[in-house]
Amino acid sequence: MRVVIVGGGPGGYEAALVAADLGAEVTVVNDEGLGGHCVLWDCVPSKTLLTSAQAFNTLETAPSLGVHFEGMPGQQVPRYEVDLPTIMRRVRDLALAQSEDITKRVTAAGVRVVLGRGRVVGPNAVEVRPSGDGGGRGPERLEGDAILLATGSDPRRMDTAPTDGEVILSSQDVYRLRQVPEHLVVVGAGATGAEYATAFLRFGAQVTFVCSRDRILPTQDEDAALVIEDVFERRGLQTLKNARAAKVERVGDRGVVHLDDGRTVEGSHVLLTIGQVPQTGGLGLDEMGVATNERGAVVVDGVSRTSVPSIYAAGDVTSKQMLASVAAGQGRTAMWHLLGQAVAPLRWDAVVATIFTDPQIATVGLSEQRAAETGIEVEVDTLPLAGNARAKMSNRPDGFVKLLARPGSGTIAGGAVVASYASDLIAPISEACFNRLTASQLSQAFQTYPSFAGSIQECARRLAVRVQGSYRY
Ligand SMILES: Cc1cc2nc3c(=O)[nH]c(=O)nc-3n(C[C@H](O)[C@H](O)[C@H](O)COP(=O)(O)OP(=O)(O)OC[C@H]3O[C@@H](n4cnc5c(N)ncnc54)[C@H](O)[C@@H]3O)c2cc1C
Repeated sequence: MRVVIVGGGPGGYEAALVAADLGAEVTVVNDEGLGGHCVLWDCVPSKTLLTSAQAFNTLETAPSLGVHFEGMPGQQVPRYEVDLPTIMRRVRDLALAQSEDITKRVTAAGVRVVLGRGRVVGPNAVEVRPSGDGGGRGPERLEGDAILLATGSDPRRMDTAPTDGEVILSSQDVYRLRQVPEHLVVVGAGATGAEYATAFLRFGAQVTFVCSRDRILPTQDEDAALVIEDVFERRGLQTLKNARAAKVERVGDRGVVHLDDGRTVEGSHVLLTIGQVPQTGGLGLDEMGVATNERGAVVVDGVSRTSVPSIYAAGDVTSKQMLASVAAGQGRTAMWHLLGQAVAPLRWDAVVATIFTDPQIATVGLSEQRAAETGIEVEVDTLPLAGNARAKMSNRPDGFVKLLARPGSGTIAGGAVVASYASDLIAPISEACFNRLTASQLSQAFQTYPSFAGSIQECARRLAVRVQGSYRY
């Protein structure tokens, strides 16, 4: 079997590893380093930036833990300097190093990597135009028994808000900044906006959120969003609610956001985080008859097949759930299916997602809101972290653990954790949800004392008593 993969993000390179392992002859076509936008522009850079912002947690809590800074006794937050060029260099270096590691892994597995832009020119053929001058190479035609499209997504743009990379920024332009913005106006209060707001607030910028709904993070667990709103407010972030940006323009060296109700907000910089759109431009999908939906995403079935039998698609280009783990899962599933392995459709009811605010919000499976909208019956228990011994010691009391279980069986259907390291703390709930464990089973596994994870165990115990009558079985 010969497989041609267009796009080298997690959807593409994880599929390549699976296909190569199963003996296929695999070529990955990518127009930048392997790892794709995920590694070079989105997940890895944003989380590296946030790691620098996290250093402020230590600075902030140190005086209350009895550690003072020389010359500043009793001062709550010491004076600090943010060296943005060094932070951004670290972000870039780390992303490139990660991309190189992935390239080594993929090429060691026997996969051929071609740098260039791919276009589907037949149900079994991709034409590659080399990137840059291509080292004198002309277009190359690659034949495959199957093609996987994993071309990802790009930041959504507005005609009335053209980015210039200096004052009006997309999420990818952030890494060009060499000075902390004096006043950053973030348009779009979803996950990406909230993460950048977290970082730049910590770096000392004034931050204003332009939020089209009546709360930030409108698609997230409402209780979790309220915790983050409260933390943001305490740190001085301003939120303009029910405020829809109609136009953004540069006036001199400042950015001005015009709201559709006539108000304006001005800042030294404006960051647009208004979503992502699937990258299908120039791929030749219409000519091939590959079906797309009204949002321009490639339509796939449960095993990632498109409307053309030899063409599969995975990741953001399918717009299912724009997450690296989902992209990788779809890519692997596609290759298992193609190469004759037993395969089950992805478990959409057990997907994990984290928003790396401070504290972080991690969720898995069914949410309380979705259960209410769809009429799925669930029992819910929420345990604030404020009573957790470890949270008290660490002086990190903001947050909670929430668990959802099905009445009767007590099976864990979903959960949310709002805590400093929620991205890791969600793991036991994810496993319970995926493996359909009960609240009682989740509560019986040992957890370290004292630990944040202890709250998951306690919450599960309380829920088991309510739903199953006891946590002993
Ligand atoms: C700011 C930000 C932060 C994020 N943080 C997280 C996070 O923490 N965790 C998480 O799970 N998700 C996160 N996401 C989402 C995550 O980045 C995506 O879901 C993930 O990258 C999707 O992977 P993919 O393989 O579909 O595509 P991508 O990672 O976008 O890779 C696709 C690659 O294909 C290339 N390509 C496109 N067209 C062609 C062509 N015609 N020929 C050749 N190459 C082509 C692209 O240039 C790109 O390199 C974040 C997104 C953003 C915007």
